[in-house]
Amino acid sequence: MAYVIYTSGSTGKPKGAMNSHRAVCNRLLWMQDSFGLTPDECVLQKTPFSFDVSVWEFFWPLMTGARLVLARPGGHRDSHYLAELIAAQQISTLHFVPSMLRVFLQEPRLEERCGSVTRVICSGEALTFDIQQRFFARFSAAHLYNMYGPTEAAIDVTAWECYRDTADPVVPIGRPIANTKIYILDEHMHPAPLEVPGELYIGGVAVGCGYHNRPRLTAERFLPDPFTREAGARIYRTGDLACWRTDGHIEYLGRTDFQVKVHGFRIEPGEIEATVQQHPTVRAAAVVARPDSTGDTRLVAYVVPNTDAVDSLPTTDEPVQEWGSIYDLYYRQDAPTADPLFNTAGWISSYTGQQMPEAEIRTWLHDTLVPVQAQQPRRVYEIGCGTGMLLFALAGGCSEYWASDPAGGAIAYVRQHLAQAQLAPEQVRLLVRPADDFSDIPQGYFDTLIINSVVHYFPTADYLLHVLRQAFKALAPGGMVLVGDVRNMHLLRAFHTSVQLFQAAPDLPIHQLRHRVQTQLLNEEQLTIDPAFFAALHHTDPQIARVEIRLKRSPYPTEHTRFRYNALLYKAADPATGPAVDTGVHWRHWQEDELTIDGLRAWLTQEQPRAAGVTDIFNARVLTDAIAVNLLLRPPHTPTTTAELRRQISGTNQRGIDPDRLRDMGESLGYTVQVGWSPNDAACFDVLFTRPDSTPPPLPIADPQRANPQRLWQSYANNPKQSLLTRTLPTLLRAYLATKLPEYMVPAAFVIIDALPLSPNGKLDRRALPEPDAALLERDRPYLAPRTPVEVMIARIWGDVLGVERVGIDDGFFALGGHSLRATQIVARLREAFAVDIPLRLMFEDVTVARLAEAIETLQWMACRPSEAVADPATSEEGEI
Ligand code: AMP
Repeated sequence: MAYVIYTSGSTGKPKGAMNSHRAVCNRLLWMQDSFGLTPDECVLQKTPFSFDVSVWEFFWPLMTGARLVLARPGGHRDSHYLAELIAAQQISTLHFVPSMLRVFLQEPRLEERCGSVTRVICSGEALTFDIQQRFFARFSAAHLYNMYGPTEAAIDVTAWECYRDTADPVVPIGRPIANTKIYILDEHMHPAPLEVPGELYIGGVAVGCGYHNRPRLTAERFLPDPFTREAGARIYRTGDLACWRTDGHIEYLGRTDFQVKVHGFRIEPGEIEATVQQHPTVRAAAVVARPDSTGDTRLVAYVVPNTDAVDSLPTTDEPVQEWGSIYDLYYRQDAPTADPLFNTAGWISSYTGQQMPEAEIRTWLHDTLVPVQAQQPRRVYEIGCGTGMLLFALAGGCSEYWASDPAGGAIAYVRQHLAQAQLAPEQVRLLVRPADDFSDIPQGYFDTLIINSVVHYFPTADYLLHVLRQAFKALAPGGMVLVGDVRNMHLLRAFHTSVQLFQAAPDLPIHQLRHRVQTQLLNEEQLTIDPAFFAALHHTDPQIARVEIRLKRSPYPTEHTRFRYNALLYKAADPATGPAVDTGVHWRHWQEDELTIDGLRAWLTQEQPRAAGVTDIFNARVLTDAIAVNLLLRPPHTPTTTAELRRQISGTNQRGIDPDRLRDMGESLGYTVQVGWSPNDAACFDVLFTRPDSTPPPLPIADPQRANPQRLWQSYANNPKQSLLTRTLPTLLRAYLATKLPEYMVPAAFVIIDALPLSPNGKLDRRALPEPDAALLERDRPYLAPRTPVEVMIARIWGDVLGVERVGIDDGFFALGGHSLRATQIVARLREAFAVDIPLRLMFEDVTVARLAEAIETLQWMACRPSEAVADPATSEEGEI
């Protein structure tokens, strides 16, 4: 044996390929016979000796008396250095992996600098026609060769000299070298006819001696040679697809398995997959090679996180802290509305990234206040008052209004505006504290407790439960808790589908859209709650007299009115008796009974039932989103582009009803109307019409009798902590793999997905793996370090907030995994760092570190020259920002 060289192994263990002196000598002698290297020539040695190309680089010049020049370690990757070295050392012969030759050919003035080169040998991966042509365009006299061979044989086993003037778009791998046989066989080990693809087998002297200490694997790949009588002769099964051409040369066609070549490095994705899967945070992984926008091959790892590992992540108060930091930002921001008592800062649409219109927010506020005002509140405790939108509307009519918020800034803002709201300081008691801190909060005291639009910042359903239990203690008998603006867990996918569909270009392939939705789901940082949570709470707590789940009342189809709801929890005035409920509801099913609005009106008018309910009415506010979800989830009926999907959705004949139409109709007929989600289908709602003089029973969704006492509390909510895992996983895995694998095997991009796509026979369907966003692949392209102090600071802040190790100046905010919450945090930090008022919207405008730095520098410059009339680059239409 001459040497063992290790190469990637699909089972996760590299395998050592052994080669004999005899085979290597044969290969070297053939080379000298064919090319005739002379002592006045010079060969460059630049391939690391763990790759077999280095064997001829070392021994050929030594054997022939030619000069041997050793490149510095790592020099093979630096084309500028190589060009300089060739010029300085007058190198005549050198090797390139084709992808590196492509890079090298971009060097300026190669013709002058590298005129000494007479012979370039390519091997290791397919040599393309375009690289060949570029080579001949730069090197007018040099020869170019395409050689082929695996580590399991002595270096190369076929060779081809490229033609200068050829229109043949394929560069063949040539013919076998001396004493070497090539067989191209079908699956029955019969020679494939000319031009018919088959698997390439190597026979003759060149075949290696098998894998070191791997007899089973050796037996699988090194088979007895069926075409010779020579005892012990073996053929090596390469896994390469090839065919014989009619001109007697061989054409390389690809692989029969998943082995890939990235920059000439031979990689079994299985080896990387096995290593990734050893990490405790990973449930499953797949690795594929994909071309980036320049045609360069990159490794992409698809990772399904092990959500069980989420709980082992360090627990932080992150969601609660973030909640605090967001409001700390908002209070500093001038209200986008003229009225500081109606501060709408932070009301950013998830669809457009723009401020939501004031009218929508005013309607939302009115709808939120209706049940509170019905309570005629005198003593209120509001948890999470933010910048006081509810407080300023309600406190005037109260004898005491207590309000807390974890953000000191928010409380300071409210305090600052009390006088303007004509509120006496003793009337309003302000506390800086998290939601679950009830110390010094009197028990049995308040008639109304408000927890509005903040539950999504809570970390878990258990936390919400804990807060609500305490809230009930603070409530006087007959009091009410409003849990407002709760995000519906069952509509989380519909919400993200809706936003992604809105933002997608018409030609976006459908699998990309599906992937974007999945990414958003995995990145969801906010708590969403199953409305049935409140019925379950009722079931366990005898203090609760009644629960009502309310869909929002508003003519505006906003994300708040479509995907959020209010829960009202009433404390029994007398726990012993509880309210007498009218139970005789006449229920009908919208779809099965084929009801219409007119039919319903006729029923209510003619029969005048005391209590009438209708279940499972398609909700016009979310129906198209639910249809989109179904179309996206259910292949093979899915369309192929976003535009087609949109057409298909608008073509469906299912029509929904806006809940407010039934509400208006019922009220016009003198009924009290309750509208809540259907427990059967989140795309449907139920409605209950009762006479004002009767005590209405709960809607099915709020009915404690229907609650499942076995169900765990955490199952009523998503797990926002999972997003922490999703965000940190790429950095975590990159660092981990760097300790386990050679650098070239560490994937360029990590795509977090919720499940690996499977083919009908249950195997991984690699072709169905979504394409990563181009930006993700670009990330591993040349890193441009921050150049100015402003860029350095921005990169540092982005890195901290986004959990990214290294941020370059061309990195885009969204490409690094940014989203609106992160934008808010970043802007807060930037404002602190640069002491200028940076508009949040800058973060939504295709921003990179470099562009943001420019914008900040301009803002700083303007801030120093208040008197000069300059266009605001952040608002100017022609601005670059
Ligand atoms: P290695 O063991 O690293 O030399 O990789 C061997 C594999 O690289 C072969 O099985 C082929 O898949 C690929 N390969 C090597 N040379 C060429 C070539 N000239 N053209 C196409 N593929 C090649």
